[in-house]
Amino acid sequence: MPKSNLRIGTGFDIHRLVKGRRFILGGVEIPFELGLHGTSDGDALIHAIIDALLGASCLGDMGKAFPVDDPKYENADSTHLLSQIVDKLSQQNWSIVNIDSVIICEQPKLSPWYGQMKENLAKVLKISANTISIKAKTCEKLGDIGNGAALAVQVVALLEKIGKQIV
Ligand SMILES: [Zn+2]
Repeated sequence: MPKSNLRIGTGFDIHRLVKGRRFILGGVEIPFELGLHGTSDGDALIHAIIDALLGASCLGDMGKAFPVDDPKYENADSTHLLSQIVDKLSQQNWSIVNIDSVIICEQPKLSPWYGQMKENLAKVLKISANTISIKAKTCEKLGDIGNGAALAVQVVALLEKIGKQIV
């Protein structure tokens, strides 16, 4: 059986878009009339990255790592949560190869913020911004995402185990 030190993980997240909340994605606050609802700051991109990393390393999921009913995660800065996961991965000799993401929403236009999001994420993930891909799509006005009530994110992450070979 062929052996590989590479592991792929997938992550998904969806948040409602509501009035009276800040719109934060990839650690960047973007001016918009609606924000992402959630216990934490609602950063769906970071949450999906966390789940992809936990999936690739078989370390569970975000709900297990940061229970939503724990008051200490109220309005938590998601970049701090991601940073804790990055530490956990490096303790287990996982290195991040690359991250690819797609943000699905009708509004706002996100491409002007990709550069800043990548810089932020690169810093927290301790990898080069060149290994992080951010894309966005609309939902063709279909369903709750299409009518602007929600925003979803899909992420895949590739990890490599450094040092000893894994099966
Ligand atoms: Zn989330």
